[in-house]
Amino acid sequence: MKPFSYERPATPAEAIEAAARPGARIIAGGTNLLDLMKLGIEGPAHIVDINRIGLDRIEDTPEGGLRIGALVRNADLAAHPRVRQHYPVLTRALVSGASGQLRNKASVSGNLMQRTRCPYFYNTDMACNKRRPGSGCSAIGGVGHNFAVLGASDACIATHPSDMCVALRALDAVVEIESAGAKRSIAIADFHLLPGDTPHLETALQPGELITGIVLPSPLAGTQIYRKVRDRASYAFANVSMALVATVEHGEVVVERLAFGGLALKPWRVEAAERGPRDPDAIADIVLAGAKSCTETAYKLPLVSRMLAAALETVQ
Ligand SMILES: Cc1cc2nc3c(=O)[nH]c(=O)nc-3n(C[C@H](O)[C@H](O)[C@H](O)COP(=O)(O)OP(=O)(O)OC[C@H]3O[C@@H](n4cnc5c(N)ncnc54)[C@H](O)[C@@H]3O)c2cc1C
Repeated sequence: MKPFSYERPATPAEAIEAAARPGARIIAGGTNLLDLMKLGIEGPAHIVDINRIGLDRIEDTPEGGLRIGALVRNADLAAHPRVRQHYPVLTRALVSGASGQLRNKASVSGNLMQRTRCPYFYNTDMACNKRRPGSGCSAIGGVGHNFAVLGASDACIATHPSDMCVALRALDAVVEIESAGAKRSIAIADFHLLPGDTPHLETALQPGELITGIVLPSPLAGTQIYRKVRDRASYAFANVSMALVATVEHGEVVVERLAFGGLALKPWRVEAAERGPRDPDAIADIVLAGAKSCTETAYKLPLVSRMLAAALETVQ
């Protein structure tokens, strides 16, 4: 492992200053970054441990929503009474991810920033434009059944692995960011980037910026569902996952919000599929417009409409 220095700031301002140093990297729960360091995929010269800077509270906003600090642990967020009651799709997404131990360590900001699980990104003997820009993409034409079918490019066909982010996308969360002397907010829709020809650029976060939290708008009416299809029943990333908010109008189930994981390099939401057709196949056709699959990923396409059909049947 490459040697690195370590620093533990006491405030967000100190953390921002420390993280601006060349080669610095923030560490929160460490459940993703440390694995990547051990594998030689990441090699920061300086680690900035933000676990003592606060930002670990969940508070009501004056608008009726919730502000969730960046350092709130995934387990605490899932168990929070207001989240369970008013944003159950978020609780269900969180508890479907990783394991109890990992969720106790993993932070909200680390979950937002976690990197792809593409096997070719993890295998340092293989070409990967995300790991080494310009080196090529071994995943294209390679072996694997969990590549993107939407929003991919000739440079990258990886997917985003987060469950939490799929629920946040359906809920229209906003990411709060601070840098030296400045604060800004960015919609979750714009936070994760599609690969294009720069797959190494993964989020809208700029160097020197710290995620301080996320804000959820006031709760939505309706039934909230999170479904995840994966290779085994637990402790596995999604093949396809789905966050759904639906209501019943005049005896008909209406899709209010719909976002998918496992399909692209960012949570995939097509607003045109919402409050539109009632039939799962017709909704899936809108979601999957422009989808490109190969033999090994073709199963993902019919899965979208089957997951929808199964979920919509349970809406009351
Ligand atoms: C075996 C295993 C199984 C898993 N299964 C799932 C799963 O099924 N579903 C799922 O969604 N996830 C899964 N995960 C991923 C897990 O959710 C992430 O590892 C975790 O959320 C990362 O959070 P962390 O706080 O540990 O991040 P860290 O590892 O500390 O950091 C990750 C990245 O975020 C950056 N970062 C962290 N905080 C900030 C901040 N405030 N501002 C700016 N940058 C920041 C770091 O610099 C780093 O680049 C799994 C992980 C493992 C190891």
